[in-house]
Amino acid sequence: MQVKQRHFVIVAGSLMSGLGKGIVTSSIGRILQSRGLKVVPIKFDGYLNVDCGTMNPYRHGEVFVLDDGTECDMDFGTYERYLNVRLNCNNSLTGGKIFSTVIQKERKGEYLGYDVQIVPHLTNEIKAWIKKVGDDFDADVVLVEVGGTVGDLENGYFLEAMRQLHYEEKHATFIQLTYVPTLVSGEQKTKPTQHANRLLASLGINPRIVICRESEMLGPDSKRKISMFCNVPEMNIFDDPDIESIYELPLFLEKQNFGDILLKELDIKSKGTDLEEWSAIVRRIKKPKKVLKIAITGKYTQVKDSYVSIKEALVHAGAHINHGVELKWIETTDLEKGNTSEELLKDCDGIIVPGGFGVRGTEGKISCAGWARENKLPYLGLCLGMQIAVISWARDKCGFKGANSTEFDEKTPHPVIDLLPEQKKIKDKGATMRLGAQDIEVKEGTEAHRIYDSKSIRERFRHRYEVNPEYIERLEKDGLVFCGKAPGTNIMQLMELKGHPFYMGTQFHPEFTSSLEKPNPLFVAFLKACAKEK
Ligand code: GLN
Repeated sequence: MQVKQRHFVIVAGSLMSGLGKGIVTSSIGRILQSRGLKVVPIKFDGYLNVDCGTMNPYRHGEVFVLDDGTECDMDFGTYERYLNVRLNCNNSLTGGKIFSTVIQKERKGEYLGYDVQIVPHLTNEIKAWIKKVGDDFDADVVLVEVGGTVGDLENGYFLEAMRQLHYEEKHATFIQLTYVPTLVSGEQKTKPTQHANRLLASLGINPRIVICRESEMLGPDSKRKISMFCNVPEMNIFDDPDIESIYELPLFLEKQNFGDILLKELDIKSKGTDLEEWSAIVRRIKKPKKVLKIAITGKYTQVKDSYVSIKEALVHAGAHINHGVELKWIETTDLEKGNTSEELLKDCDGIIVPGGFGVRGTEGKISCAGWARENKLPYLGLCLGMQIAVISWARDKCGFKGANSTEFDEKTPHPVIDLLPEQKKIKDKGATMRLGAQDIEVKEGTEAHRIYDSKSIRERFRHRYEVNPEYIERLEKDGLVFCGKAPGTNIMQLMELKGHPFYMGTQFHPEFTSSLEKPNPLFVAFLKACAKEK
């Protein structure tokens, strides 16, 4: 049997962080896919955490969850949204993971007699990891995104491993992402890029393609200089300016002939491109029929990246029904200081209460959930948002004064939300929640069943608390329906209200399974309700 030739494309960011490396890497992946190639992304992150599960969204943006329960960096959400692939823990390589792999091997005696070193032991482990992921996914191209910035201490050994991979594998190409500033005088400056390229060269790495983040398109002079000082032909230098929608980037790069150039570098024959459907969706994003105003409550609202998957899931669903979405961020702690839900919500077409942890801001969310219920405003509660809806219902409709989650009030007289029994004995905080994809049995005849058009669905979870099984019967008495549960258990995973245009809560995170080309049905149904469409 002929062994498939595998190619490696390595994207390294230079000069500074925040250049949108994840979006560039995903766009490159989508371009390669559109040329009929099978692509798998891998991201290296230099921190010594094993995963992102214990990081604060304020510091690191959203924690994204994969099918297998891996808690990872939000770039994985970007990959899945662009590439329609389902990734697993091996696609995310962190400093913490790679060091602990090597240390465990050392303890087992796998390096007996040797002093264990960054080169070759750690670097060999990294190369083996990357090749194995390529094999597991049977990929034509393995796309490696190097987290951090070239020159950081944290990713130095990883870049060294990539240099070796490039030397050994032959079919590998480095892409340098850089920033080209324009001064107030209007002058465009390429010197930082030249220096960053020299830094890469000093590590033995010579990028074949340079992608330039910029506030203005590269002038001919800038292109000529980058070409001359970075040893790349002018046609291998690409513009990455500010664009209206992030989903435009693959199209924008293709306009500059990116796919042909990359395939030439990889020595792959071009098969022609197919981005027509993608570009039709982007057109709908840019020219919506109508814009809906959606409130999102939260306590990380200053850091918009904390809710990036929700934002994107709304874009996908909106594009599907040709509606745009304008977000109104509601800081729920402000609500507790005096503003009423009425004041904040009356100009909105719908409200989302997203996931979250800890008591801060919860009373504000509970009052929003009540207002949306009484005023027939479409409501989508995600994870914590479902728990909030249940608490509000218990207090207002079941007469359970002071009802709460034991996460927020251990002594509540009515613990309608309580710790999952299996969580009670857990002490460690890393990867110990109820995580990843689980089956959901959907009740026939419900709104949820109509939306998903299936009795059995699978969605991704990340929680420790659940609807207290002892309260289910009482909660369901007056119109609240638990329309989805974990098969064979008492874990309620989906709820809705009878007689409301759209009032749903999910113990899972539908925002993690939405992609541009396949929006999550729940988000589509929510926006249709917001647009008052059937
Ligand atoms: N804090 C809640 C729990 O652990 C909700 C979690 C979430 O919203 N992801 O159950």
